[in-house]
Amino acid sequence: MTSHARFLLSKSGPFAQMGDSFREREAQMAMSEVVEQTMEQRDAVMIEAGTGTGKTFAYLVPAIELDGKTIVSTGTRNLQDQLFFKDLPYVFRVMSKTRKVALLKGRQNYLCLHRLDLNLHTARFTSAEVAEQIVKVNDWRAKTRDGDLTQFKQLPEDAGVLPYVTSTADNCLGSECPDYNDCFVAKARKQAMDADIVVVNHHLLMADLALKEDGFGELLPRADAYVVDEAHQLPDVASAFFGKAITSRQINELSKDVNLIYRTHAADCKELETAALQLEKLAADFRISLGEDAPRQFWRNFSSDETINEAYQSLVEAIDVLCQQLKPLVIRDRELENLYERSEKLLENAELFVSDEDETQVRWIEVFRKSFILNATPLDVSEPFQKSLAPYRNSAWVLTSATLAVNGEFNHFKHKLGLFSAKSALFQSPFTYREQALLYVPRWLKNPSSPDYTRSFVEAALPLLKAARGRAFLLFTSHRALNEAAQLLENHREFNLFVQGDSAKTHLLESFRKTPDSVLLGTFSFWEGVDVAGEALSFVAIDKLPFSSPGDPVNQARIESLKRQGKDAFGLFQLPDAVIALKQGAGRLIRGVTDKGVLMVGDPRLISRQYGKRFIEDLPPMLPTRNQEVTEEFLSNL
Ligand code: SF4
Repeated sequence: MTSHARFLLSKSGPFAQMGDSFREREAQMAMSEVVEQTMEQRDAVMIEAGTGTGKTFAYLVPAIELDGKTIVSTGTRNLQDQLFFKDLPYVFRVMSKTRKVALLKGRQNYLCLHRLDLNLHTARFTSAEVAEQIVKVNDWRAKTRDGDLTQFKQLPEDAGVLPYVTSTADNCLGSECPDYNDCFVAKARKQAMDADIVVVNHHLLMADLALKEDGFGELLPRADAYVVDEAHQLPDVASAFFGKAITSRQINELSKDVNLIYRTHAADCKELETAALQLEKLAADFRISLGEDAPRQFWRNFSSDETINEAYQSLVEAIDVLCQQLKPLVIRDRELENLYERSEKLLENAELFVSDEDETQVRWIEVFRKSFILNATPLDVSEPFQKSLAPYRNSAWVLTSATLAVNGEFNHFKHKLGLFSAKSALFQSPFTYREQALLYVPRWLKNPSSPDYTRSFVEAALPLLKAARGRAFLLFTSHRALNEAAQLLENHREFNLFVQGDSAKTHLLESFRKTPDSVLLGTFSFWEGVDVAGEALSFVAIDKLPFSSPGDPVNQARIESLKRQGKDAFGLFQLPDAVIALKQGAGRLIRGVTDKGVLMVGDPRLISRQYGKRFIEDLPPMLPTRNQEVTEEFLSNL
């Protein structure tokens, strides 16, 4: 018997009747059938659906038909907006259905009325620009209905005022807040509780699963079905949520808030101001003791230094002193109680980095010009993840992405999250890659570890950039290579260069789409979730096979741990991660049935090393070539 979801997406169903560009796709119908069954049977399934399958409709249709509540989680805020404002209304219209829907973002996206009021007249701002921004936000509060600051276009994405007008799980006063009745976060949560379909992102989903304290008790409503799109990102998000961290930003914000509350609520407690200022000073001293900026490194490399160790001990003591000062004041009001809770939590996390190493976690530090982040990340997230899933066993789980499997198997993903009993399904892309795309691996490129490698990569890409008249993404595995390539290309006036970091990602992409002869240079943030369909993007060049850095402390600790267990760390961890990352990057090229283009992978190891085959076998089946002239001609003819 044909399933209902299959029928709806077939050529006899309502989508085909709309007369838009919709076309019946076997993979889409089959996927919707799997999702429908999974939801009915409250099962768990991992689904890889190649680009062009139409996976969004394949899960939305059964979710809308489901007699129950569904939570759909996506990777980014932009994808959430796309689902909520575009895809869902369209599917409702076609299916002539209405269900209650809600969009729930992280609390940092909503205006916090309480913090706005608290800071508006009393805060000491770091710049005149921030002071101006808070006045603008205050004017906007009367106009907004949902308090979603991302919709307030006058405010830049990284506006300095944001920490003053948004809340964190730490500083939110929850139901004891004087502004609770008008609170935008509370309203959004309430709508989510009442809705049939709630669109969230992985951070919210993980916060809910990890049961992080959040000021409002339950974060998400319990649902009958959970759909996790872009599910390949979930293990990394889970790693962050099951870990612990202490950052200079947290310390400075706590110190500032203590100061503010001292001036507004507790002027008789001069010792509070002293303790807060001392804390801020010792955080700055600790930062100085760390020396130059440093990328992610083992904390033990730093903590073994006596000066750093002493500076850290003093910082922990200063948190303790503040904690003791706040303790007797908790009975005064909710603000002081909240500050005490924050300082206590900060102390607990800070003490983690004083005690002996724990084998289940890796402790690492990242040092920036004026700040630092100390992290304790679990080596294996599958156990805490599985534990956190226990209360959700009666719900259906659909985890989907265009890149979950490696060589047709889901073992890698399954192990990362401990999803041993989940079913799996794989749907190939409906695109005819052999006709639509070439996979070009240039000859004679330098060894990727050679200092001249990036130059030789750019030289190999140049004739193709000319043949394609720009319309290209150059994707790099490091910022160093990105910057070098940007310098090498800056005198090529025939192209309009867009370089990651020059402006916000959405702005760069918009300019890239609109401008002829454009070339965009980016690192990993452009490898996924970027959709440029049609002629605007005809050439994607990737500099190296995207192995995660073995020098990274989390990777290194995971590799060492696998080796200690006598396992093949390269085959089980490094290679599959890199295969998935390459598939993601390659996926930027062909976005529609009429798209055509060339994927160039510069790295000669794709051919010279035995493992190169594993990458090639997992890429979409494009026509391979090593011939530059053939490739140029292909691009010139587009
Ligand atoms: S409840 Fe929390 S988020 Fe809402 S206004 Fe109060 S402090 Fe801000």
